[in-house]
Order: sequence, then structure tokens, then C-alpha cells
Amino acid sequence: MDVPGPGTPAELRSTVAREAAVVVLLTVLVAIASVLADLPGRIADWSRSAVGPLDDAVLLLAASHLFMMVFGSRRARDLKAQHARRAQAEQELRERARTDPLTGLLNRAGLAEELRAAVDDAAAGGPPLAVVMLDLDRFKEVNDTLGHAVGDTLLRAVAERLTAELRRGDVLARLGGDEFVVLLRDADPDAVRRTTDRLLAALRLPFDVDGIVLEVDGSLGVATAGTDPAELLRAADVAMYAAKADRSGVVVHSAGLDRHDPAQLSLFGDLRRGIRDGELRVHYQPKAALADGRVRGVEALVRWEHPQRGLLPPSEFIGLAEATGLIRTLTDVVLTQALEDCRRWRAEGVALTVAVNLSARVLLDTGLPDRIAARLADAGLPADCLELEVTESAAMQDPGQALDVLQRLRGLGVTLSVDDYGTGHASLSYLSRLPVSTLKIDRSFVSTMELDGTDQVIVRSTIELAHALGLRVVAEGVETRATWERLVALGCDEAQGFWLGRPGPAEGVLARVAAIDSLTSGDAVLPAGA
Ligand code: C2E
Ligand code: MG
Ligand code: MG
Repeated sequence: MDVPGPGTPAELRSTVAREAAVVVLLTVLVAIASVLADLPGRIADWSRSAVGPLDDAVLLLAASHLFMMVFGSRRARDLKAQHARRAQAEQELRERARTDPLTGLLNRAGLAEELRAAVDDAAAGGPPLAVVMLDLDRFKEVNDTLGHAVGDTLLRAVAERLTAELRRGDVLARLGGDEFVVLLRDADPDAVRRTTDRLLAALRLPFDVDGIVLEVDGSLGVATAGTDPAELLRAADVAMYAAKADRSGVVVHSAGLDRHDPAQLSLFGDLRRGIRDGELRVHYQPKAALADGRVRGVEALVRWEHPQRGLLPPSEFIGLAEATGLIRTLTDVVLTQALEDCRRWRAEGVALTVAVNLSARVLLDTGLPDRIAARLADAGLPADCLELEVTESAAMQDPGQALDVLQRLRGLGVTLSVDDYGTGHASLSYLSRLPVSTLKIDRSFVSTMELDGTDQVIVRSTIELAHALGLRVVAEGVETRATWERLVALGCDEAQGFWLGRPGPAEGVLARVAAIDSLTSGDAVLPAGA
């Protein structure tokens, strides 16, 4: 920050020297004037003094004193003003370092100071405090679909609304993204409950951002016991995670919560950050038509490139993403990437369809069909490029709402498949009443059908029954040529499995598709790495 006036001691010294020179010069001028114009005599006359004319030396001394006083007091005034400006600039800098520029709330550093002070105060017998960690749901969707400007406006509106619900002395901070922390002073359990209920209710009212009505929700975790600021924040974070996991809105931290697997808890934070930082990777596994051995499509299978733990398979994090609501963002990332890769392959002259897996929870999201339509339009792809796989149990849950979403997806022209068939309890006749066109037989039956007669009977009867109900059949888990050939004989429609190729990155897909076409035509050897 710029503070006008001499800044450094050297500058100050030269200013004072300049002013001293002016004082000397003025004194010399007075001396000359007193010789030329007999100033002492005139002054004595003016003052009608009884004493004789002033002594020249006394006059000069008085004049130089006068000049020095005038300049000195001006300099003192300047220095005082400059000091005040500098103190104000320092104060502004300090404030800036503690403030979130977007919302004007405290930032992490500011919160840390306030929290430290409140903890010390409570320890010295002051009022008890509570820390509330608050994370918005659906914020990323707003940011991604409507842009950062709308996202920023929404965050400011959220900050304003939360502030309005707080009492004097309570502190609101934004840690970054859509994470807020409230520090409640003088917090007995009832007061905390009332405040968190008010905060949640305030969040749930629709926001009008530039004429767009947005609905968000939040999960709040509360921590009350603790003498260490970092420990309080961690406890509130754990409680917030629990609130997200069971979608209960507010959870107060208790010792029992810490029995949640700590590795899972830290993985939750990691996954949220990993998704945001682009650590998800989409691999593709080919599916070939059994009639002619040609690859018509690929299945998108997500992986997470964890900075410390390496490439993680979906079994390590899909369950966590489902439990915490991160699955919606994850699905969106996979879908967007899969459609982009599909568009690229088409541009290179290979028309493949791409299949994306949908979790049960995503199927309850009534906004899903519109988002998928928008993603297809963004990629400039027809709807029949996309296949959506839902597990048997997902298709069975809450039939009303899931069915409505499935019907709207089918209405878009997207192909729907039932994944992992045989692992749930759905009857084929029930599934055939859903708007699905394909059945994927679970790999646990297919991969062992050459060894296990029962599995072979299950596969055969499933194919026959599904065909009778008008469904196409895909066999997962084809690991050998013998299985492939058996499935050809059984009249199965498509196959997917390690024998054709393991899931791999998008870059290798076209080369592998070409290799599989020659593999299934009879005489070729397995492609390298498959
Ligand atoms: P899925 O949809 O049934 O995918 C097929 C899984 O079987 C993949 O496991 C694949 O690598 C594996 N597989 C393929 N061929 C063979 C074979 O011949 N033998 C054996 N033993 N296994 C085979 P992966 O990639 O570990 O995925 C596991 C599951 O994770 C998927 O099962 C799917 O339910 C879920 N998943 C993967 N990506 C996503 C995603 O983006 N969203 C959601 N919601 N779930 C996903
Ligand atoms: Mg699948
Ligand atoms: Mg499957």
C-alpha cells in the first residue's frame, strides 16, 4: 500500500536538512534586511517599547526560532498523519490476509485466529463454544452447468443468508469452495440445535441468482468438546461427513462417530479433492457382437489416480462416493469424458457406442435426464451413442421415482441396460417391464460356465428367456475362447471380458478394437496387454 510523504529514514533526513537550509536562508535574509532597513529600530518603534532598539543578535535569534517552530510543527503534523496512514494500511493488509475476497467473510487464517481466541477464552472459564462445518450440496452442479459467475454470486448469497441467521459474537468463515465454518459462542446444546436448524432452513429456501432459481442443500457437522482448534475442526468435519453419508442434514459429533473407519474418513476428503483436481481416469473395455466378432461399443469404467496410492479400482471408492453424494459429480465427470472420447473416435471414423454405469442413488435424481441431454448436445452426439447401465438392484429400488427417470432417459433415445443380472432378486418378467432393452449377465456365472454345469444352465436359460421377452443379452466375464464359442452357440448377442481385452485408457482403444476384430475372426493371437 502507498503511503505518501518521506518513507525511509534517509528520505526523512534529507527533508529535514532541506528545511533546515530554508530556515538558515530565511535567517540570513532577515539579517540582511535588518542591516539595510534597521529592523531592530523599527520593531522597537512599532512596539512603542520603552527600552532602546533591539539588539541585532536577539532579533536574529528570535527570527530563526520562529522559523524553526513553523517548520517543525508542520513536519510534526506531517509525520503524525503519515504514521496514521501507515497504521491504517497495515490494518487493511492484516484484514485482507484474514478475509475471503469473494464473500468478505473470514478465511481459513482468520478463522484460526478467532478459534484460538475462543478456545482460550472457554478454557479460562468463558462461555462454551461450538464449531459447525457446513458443506453445500449441489454447488458443483451449479458451477459446472451455469458457470463460475453464477457460482460466485450464489456463494455470496449463501454467505449473506447464513450471516443473517447468526447472533452477535458468532463468526462465519469460508474455507474455500463451498465449505463454510460457523463458530458459535456461548453455545449450549439447545441454542446450537436451534441455530443449525435455522442455518439449514435458510439454505434450503430457493436462491434467485440473476433470474435463475437455484435450490441447494447442505450438510452440517457440529463439534462442541475440545481444547484444540485443529481437533475441533476435525471433529466437525467427521460429523459433517456422517451428515452427508446418511443425508440427515445435521449431525453432532460424538465419540461413536470416531469409530467410523478413519481411513474412510480421510479418503472422503481425498476423493472430494481428487474429483475437483481431475484425478479421475476413465478406462474402456470393449464389447463385441458374437455374431460377427466385431466391436460395436465400449464400457466406461472409472479409476482414481490417487497421488499416494496409485491407480485405484472403483471398488475402493464408488461405495464411498455413493454414501456421501459425491457420486453425482463423479458420474458427471465420467459421462462428460466418455462422450468426449466417443466423439473423438467417431471423428477418426470409428463409430463406437459408449456405456456408462449409473448408481442407484443417481437414478433418484430427477434432474438427470436433462443433464444427460445437455451433455449429449454439448458433445454433438446422437442419443443412440450412449448406453446407460443400471444394476438390477438399482432398477428395483423405489420403483416409482427410478422408473420415471428411466422412462425419461429412454425417451431421449438412450439405450438402457440391466447390469450384473443374476446377482439381485429381480425376476426377468419384472425387468422386461422396465424401459430397458439389454440384459448383462453377471460375470460370476459366465466366467465359470465352462467348469460349472449349473452356471451353464443359468446362462442358457437366461438367454432364452430374455430373447423371448425381447431383450438383447450381453455376457460379462468372457475369459476364454471356449466361453466365447459356447456363447456363440447359445445365441448370446454380445460379449465382454478379459479374453477380448481388459479395460484400458482411451488412447489405445482404436488399436485394440482393430486387434479384437482380427482376434475374433479366428486366427489372430491375443493383443498385447489384453
Ligand atoms: P461392471 O459395470 O459390471 O463392470 C465390469 C467389471 O468387470 C469391471 O470391473 C471389469 O474390469 C470387470 N471385468 C471385465 N471383464 C472381466 C473378466 O473377464 N473377468 C473378470 N473377473 N472381471 C472382468 P471394474 O472396472 O473394477 O468395475 C467394477 C464395477 O465398478 C463395475 O462393474 C461398476 O459396477 C462399477 N463402476 C465402474 N465405473 C463406474 C462408474 O463410472 N460409475 C459407477 N456408478 N459405477 C462404476
Ligand atoms: Mg457395467
Ligand atoms: Mg457388470
